[in-house]
Amino acid sequence: MLNIIICGAPGCGKGTQSDFIVKKYSLKHLSTGSLLRKEIREKTELGIIADSYITKGNLVPDNMITDILIKAVDDQPEECKGIILDGFPRTVAQAEALEEILNKRNKKTTVLLDLQVDNEELISRLLKRGETSGRSDDNLETINKRLDVYERKTAPVNDFYKKLNKYANIDGKGTMEEIFARIVAVIDSKL
Ligand code: ADP
Repeated sequence: MLNIIICGAPGCGKGTQSDFIVKKYSLKHLSTGSLLRKEIREKTELGIIADSYITKGNLVPDNMITDILIKAVDDQPEECKGIILDGFPRTVAQAEALEEILNKRNKKTTVLLDLQVDNEELISRLLKRGETSGRSDDNLETINKRLDVYERKTAPVNDFYKKLNKYANIDGKGTMEEIFARIVAVIDSKL
């Protein structure tokens, strides 16, 4: 069973690389950001609340995310060989919740992949994406806020997994194929 976390600042390419990883290793893809945007599109109660946080570049409260996660961990189709968590955990509290949820099910986090890209490149990628994404958070003001929230709240998650000896940093600059090859080398070393 592979339970992989892909982490990194907004715009680092988590979503793109997750798609490649899912295909190669037959994993289930869990993107909390995509799930939240689906709720927003469907104008559910959760979506309306989430929207007010996301548009400002803030994180959605931890308790709104944990339920989504439990469902994803427990609803794995037979053919899946594990899960890739994309955009989760984003706070140390979420990391603690994840470890508890997995432990209770006799499962383990395999590795956290930290995709590293410098801020200048991140901002340029996100502004470019904003031209077509229609996302309310892909504008300069909100991007800067998200990068700040990442540093303050999400970067400490890396330290949490360093202590567990489950941290791997990946150079996130280069072509999609080059980056994927770096990721495959790390995952294969854990098989
Ligand atoms: P990005 O990495 O580009 O910011 P995501 O799709 O992962 O894109 O997340 C978009 C937004 O959704 C975040 O800025 C945050 O507001 C919200 N979000 C996603 N995942 C979480 C999470 N695990 N905890 C809290 N908020 C989240």
